Amino acid sequence: MKEKQEKHELTRRSVLKKGSLAGVVGVGTGLASSCGIQSSKLSSEEVFQSLHQRVEETPMVDTHEHLIEEESRISGKNERIKANDWSFLLSHYVDSDLITCGMPEEELDSFFSAGTDPLEKWRILEPYWPRVKRTGYGQAVTIALERIYGISGLSAETVPKIQNAYEKNIRAGFYKHILQELGNIESCQVNSLEGPFSESKQPALLMQDISILGMHMGPNIETYTAPTGVEVKDLQDWHSVIDWWFTTYGDYAVAVKSQAAYSRNIDYADVPPEQVEQLFKKTLNKEPLDPADEKSLQDHLFWYSVRKATEHNLPVKVHTGYYAGQNRMPLGRLQQNAAAACDLCKISPDTRFVFMHIDYPFYEDLIAVAKHYTNCYIDMCWAWIISPVASVNFPKQYLVTAPTNKVLTFGGDYIPVEPVIGHVDLARRGIVQSLAGLVHEGWLSLDSAVNSVEGIMRGNARQIFSLEEKARRLQNAPWL
Ligand SMILES: [Zn+2]
Repeated sequence: MKEKQEKHELTRRSVLKKGSLAGVVGVGTGLASSCGIQSSKLSSEEVFQSLHQRVEETPMVDTHEHLIEEESRISGKNERIKANDWSFLLSHYVDSDLITCGMPEEELDSFFSAGTDPLEKWRILEPYWPRVKRTGYGQAVTIALERIYGISGLSAETVPKIQNAYEKNIRAGFYKHILQELGNIESCQVNSLEGPFSESKQPALLMQDISILGMHMGPNIETYTAPTGVEVKDLQDWHSVIDWWFTTYGDYAVAVKSQAAYSRNIDYADVPPEQVEQLFKKTLNKEPLDPADEKSLQDHLFWYSVRKATEHNLPVKVHTGYYAGQNRMPLGRLQQNAAAACDLCKISPDTRFVFMHIDYPFYEDLIAVAKHYTNCYIDMCWAWIISPVASVNFPKQYLVTAPTNKVLTFGGDYIPVEPVIGHVDLARRGIVQSLAGLVHEGWLSLDSAVNSVEGIMRGNARQIFSLEEKARRLQNAPWL
């Protein structure tokens, strides 16, 4: 086992080194000699080696995941696992690229179905894999196969080995092995899709967000009320339900999260309770609201939840930019996200807003918000696999524009744990390229670039989410 691990480690290094070096040489040669300031005497190789070493040895805080609990992965008993075989590695997010490249829905269904023999699945995937294997989603899976199983690429020959390795790998402790031992990830922050807050059995590794989505969208009265014992008859009762989640889990959660941007802009007006009391009653009676009233109710409940989060010193994570899935994204609406982010920051200066996914593809707009508003933070979660190259540009632009302490550089954003390793490798490679570019072009000295690594990979997250204090409290979490 030890030997095998070392072999994988070695493979990872060589894979990374090859990838990074190619990129850096491309950026660096020529430029270093023409415009380097302090870097002019350094070769591309020296710059790369210094940055590569620092980035490799620095543990990453992973600020966004949707990982299901390890025991559900082992048993396969979870509604998100259609088939507990190798196809699961492609279920999030390669499935979307497969549809948009032209794979018919019926073929996709049969590829992910538990009713299809895992070894037969390659035949279904084969015509489409060449179309999607180059995307960030595809590359993350390929890297994961290499790093976790030591298997190179998806093909008719490798699929039986991959299926075999997949089965062997899934056992108690495999999350820790993949995330910490292979990925050098210090801790993750999970936005559970199973409920508003997940009482993880590994709470220091899988730290948790409280989802405020159903507090303000819908609202999702049944789910949120169930454990509270509150009978909701009016708006005040609903406020009490929201309070319950913060009183019960506020000390143990690292942040709150809303992905309401999937169905509306994030332009939340500060609507007072009197204005929505009757609207809330209508909703309770399942009477429809007109769109303006529906927005007012959502807006009021958003701010109620955000203020509770702020009272509990919890940063507020807000989805911005690109949509997961396929064939539904209204880009015109996403384009409004950064402008609305300014208003959020202005309305509540005491709230730390963490805008997720760099608002891709509008990341320059969001950098302007972070530069201007003290309480705007930007999280690169998911970004490296949406667009690896734009993600190399992002820290390059960010670091010489906005304060270094307000950027977070990694969140895998995955349901399956395996591709996280592919994603974090892409992120590390990208961070090296990004910083090397800044050094070669003379914007930063090598020292300054190397010294930024600890903060952007780990220190900022530790500070923004009070991770040391949370880790201490989680040792005595009441559900353990
Ligand atoms: Zn997510």
